[in-house]
Amino acid sequence: MQIANNKVVYIHYTLKNDAGDTLDSSDGGAPLAFLHGSGGIIKGLESALEGKSSGDKLEVVVEPEEGYGASHPEAIQQVPKSAFQGIDDLAVGMRLQAETADGAVPIKVTAIEDDIVTIDANHELAGERLHFAVSVESVRDATEEEISHGHVH
Ligand code: ZN
Repeated sequence: MQIANNKVVYIHYTLKNDAGDTLDSSDGGAPLAFLHGSGGIIKGLESALEGKSSGDKLEVVVEPEEGYGASHPEAIQQVPKSAFQGIDDLAVGMRLQAETADGAVPIKVTAIEDDIVTIDANHELAGERLHFAVSVESVRDATEEEISHGHVH
């Protein structure tokens, strides 16, 4: 069975960055399941998998525009340390939820200098070219319920 819209697809994958560092992998766990055509995985990977079948292995390079988007400078902000009251162990690399008018946004602390904290609300993989090694484990028809919900059950 070939991968097409409204098929449920199970893949094993390893994701590396340009430097060859492994960022994520399904190795040793359950395969990743997604409903093809529902936007459940990034666009560049979904379109590369179109028409593939169980047992196929492929290497896919996804540019940021088809992945997690460009890194936006306006998502990087400097805020006074006093905005982090109640957080005793504030440190570079820490991930927090920022309360904004649009709801909670995940941010990362990227620098602390004196009383100024630099935070970055870009997706962790924004601006990265993604290198996927994928093997298609199985493909099946989605159920009516899965199609109406837009995800795998
Ligand atoms: Zn559901």
